[in-house]
Amino acid sequence: RSWTDPSAVIHEKLLRKIGVIGAGAMGAGIGQLAANHGYEVVLVEVDEQAADRGRERVTTLVRKWARHKGMSHANESELLDRIRVVTEADAIADADLVIEAIVEKIDVKQNLFRTLDRIMSPETILATNTSSLSVDAMANATGRGRLVAGLHFFNPVHKMELVEVVRAKQTDDATIARLLGFVRAIGKTPVVTADTPGFLVNRVLFPYLGEAVLMVAEGHSIRDLDNQTRSFGMPMGPLELLDQVGLDVAWHVARSLDNIVSGLRPVLDQLQMMVDDGRMGKKSGSGFYRYR
Ligand code: NAD
Repeated sequence: RSWTDPSAVIHEKLLRKIGVIGAGAMGAGIGQLAANHGYEVVLVEVDEQAADRGRERVTTLVRKWARHKGMSHANESELLDRIRVVTEADAIADADLVIEAIVEKIDVKQNLFRTLDRIMSPETILATNTSSLSVDAMANATGRGRLVAGLHFFNPVHKMELVEVVRAKQTDDATIARLLGFVRAIGKTPVVTADTPGFLVNRVLFPYLGEAVLMVAEGHSIRDLDNQTRSFGMPMGPLELLDQVGLDVAWHVARSLDNIVSGLRPVLDQLQMMVDDGRMGKKSGSGFYRYR
């Protein structure tokens, strides 16, 4: 049976409340998207300062969305009321699905999954938005492997159509079906992938991005490379895309692919140099381009 066949999927109405851990670039985007589609959303952050920054991110995304959709002030407030950013994980104890979008470090994520396994109801699905880490490694930190999967959104969340639903070793069919239903319910297109480095999209994308990084190092013009690939039909050039993704995030993904995609070692070195130099892409004000 094909998981991309809509008839194989129960439209997910049972999920009502979504917990999102981490209100950074991805968590805020995921939270806003779920709230747009009627879900009650609670985002959890590490401390009050981070929660304030998260609230600001979510509010900006909601306002932009409301303007884009010509929403009334009343509807915009109603949408904002469906999203809370808190510092206490207790506030998500009754969520039906938890999506983790915290730092890309396996030990930190495993600790979080251990805690979630303890505080969440035994039937709650735990999903990770990781781009480069093993979903299995997170599932193994819990006693509910069948309910753990990857839910890999792309950046920026509100624009990117595809979401990878990552099936780890123990993930069961019911969990995959519910996640497919959820992804469709929030207006995205799901694709089921295996829990292998880069999943599907990054595995095919990174050799292409890596070549562009190496061409820049060889002296090719950044702007020309991006313009030429755009005229080839890409919505964005490879270097613009890397700046959008974040060079630190890209480094993690490239490293996870190092054993299976050849030629990435010099790309890792280039990205590392830029990250060490504080050039992490759009979010830091400079990467391949300058933004301030
Ligand atoms: P980010 O740095 O913007 O946000 C991470 C947030 O998590 C921060 O606000 C931080 O305070 C918070 N956080 C860290 N530890 C926490 C904890 N223990 N509990 C609660 N909050 C915690 O990062 P991001 O770009 O949003 O990435 C988040 C995840 O999504 C990573 O796993 C990353 O690999 C993945 N991802 C990123 C992209 C991207 O393009 N940026 C795309 C797809 C997936």
